[in-house]
Amino acid sequence: MCGIVGYVGGREAAPLILDSLRKLEYRGYDSAGIAVLHNGEVAIRRCEGKLTNLENSLSQKPVEGSVGIGHTRWATHGKPSETNAHPHRAGDVVVVHNGIIENYLELKERLSKNGSRFESETDTEIVAHLVDEKIRKGADFLAAVTRSLREIHGSYALVFLNRKDPQRLIVAKNSTPIVIGGGQGETFIASDIPALLEYTRKVTFLEDGEVAEVKAGGYRILDGKGKAVKRPFKEITWDAVAARKDGHRHFMLKEIHEQPRAIADTFRGRISLQEGNVSLGEIALKTKEVERIDKIHLVACGTAWHAALVGKFMIEEIAGISAEVDYGSEFRYRSPFVSPRSLLLPISQSGETADTLAAIDVARTNKAKVVSICNVVDSSLARKSNGVLYTRAGPEISVASTKAFTTQLTALYLLAIALGRLNGRLKRAEARRLLEDLMHLPHWIEEALKLEAALDDLARELSNASNFLYLGRGINYPIALEGALKLKEISYIHAEGYPAGDACSDPFAAGSVFSEDFRKPQGGGVEGW
Ligand code: GLU
Repeated sequence: MCGIVGYVGGREAAPLILDSLRKLEYRGYDSAGIAVLHNGEVAIRRCEGKLTNLENSLSQKPVEGSVGIGHTRWATHGKPSETNAHPHRAGDVVVVHNGIIENYLELKERLSKNGSRFESETDTEIVAHLVDEKIRKGADFLAAVTRSLREIHGSYALVFLNRKDPQRLIVAKNSTPIVIGGGQGETFIASDIPALLEYTRKVTFLEDGEVAEVKAGGYRILDGKGKAVKRPFKEITWDAVAARKDGHRHFMLKEIHEQPRAIADTFRGRISLQEGNVSLGEIALKTKEVERIDKIHLVACGTAWHAALVGKFMIEEIAGISAEVDYGSEFRYRSPFVSPRSLLLPISQSGETADTLAAIDVARTNKAKVVSICNVVDSSLARKSNGVLYTRAGPEISVASTKAFTTQLTALYLLAIALGRLNGRLKRAEARRLLEDLMHLPHWIEEALKLEAALDDLARELSNASNFLYLGRGINYPIALEGALKLKEISYIHAEGYPAGDACSDPFAAGSVFSEDFRKPQGGGVEGW
């Protein structure tokens, strides 16, 4: 997930693009960049870190021009760095991208054989090279883009600029949002409405598979077959604050609704359904190493600890490897049986959780390998690990974690399947069934989200209760713990997660907080709990 901005018009593009990027910083903030076209030349400025770094660089080396594109990045392929920051350029073609190009490695190989030289580690750069290749063979800018799109698989919102075709930007979309905004003699492009609200309230969204040609005087949308699509502007009535939250009341709700996309992104490009395989090149575990693993230590804190508990079920059941779960804050204060045959599996959204990082030292001392799950590319956790499986949730703004948790579960499921296939415990047909289920998950979550109104009513009805008990068995026991944590974090109402089977023997029988007066035990032989 990242923020994209494009502008064609009469004003100075750079200040406008910077201002719009600032409104999109919640979508990504590990690096940023801008490209502006002026007098037949493209000036590109890119910086690692927050947008202020780019602002400082531009104040030292300003750029001029009234056609430009900008990007604030949340890395998926290649660490956050100036070289990996967008825009990326090949010849006269410059591009910004939000999403993941699944087949970038094979395209990179083909393009390299034909002489393309790559600067970055990103999946995005190959798109610039593809379009440049077509233009050099004589294709017009728009045709070069549409032909290139036929070669790429994955999710993308792309905005292209061509040094030799300065009157227009080309936009393409598949699975990630992009919106065009209209002004007087100027047209705007952005990955989200908040970036545009200060300049226009007239917007139109592109649909999957569509391409648009954007000029100062307007835009033209073409469908996947090149047929013109008529889609007029509509008026946005949201205020800027609501727009940042996609119309939702708060970021947590917005992020709950992002789960289908975040989960699909996390398995995108990693599944080969035909083979019943998961390819996790990034964790670099070989068959022999996996066969030797006798124990997996999952280490995490808070919500990620609940994900780890679910992961234990998955790893033991799917891959047949014994797994233990520890709190990061406890692991180093006991004497865990970690050996060179152990695999340490730390899980952290930010990759900066100090206790989880400390567990890695225990693994190192005992010569165990470390494969981590994390959401922030090149975080401390990623750098300290032998391999890392990134979730692709995008930045999580809400303190109460939602999409980070479910993408961690997705990553653990992929990992369990990969381990099971590598050690021969999981047969191909079964792996295919498990993977098919995973691929349906985004749809099922969308269906579950349709219950929102009913859940709202239920919440109102239950809001006066002073205690909640969440029950679950097996894999749903940690889910009960996570549910209870969410309720506590958000409502400050006391809640417990409990293994369903034990609920009849413990809290009810003991006369607990769930009885009318918890100080007077109601039946059962155990006092308190
Ligand atoms: N996959 C691209 C990258 O890692 C785009 C990431 C984004 O959407 O910010 O550079």
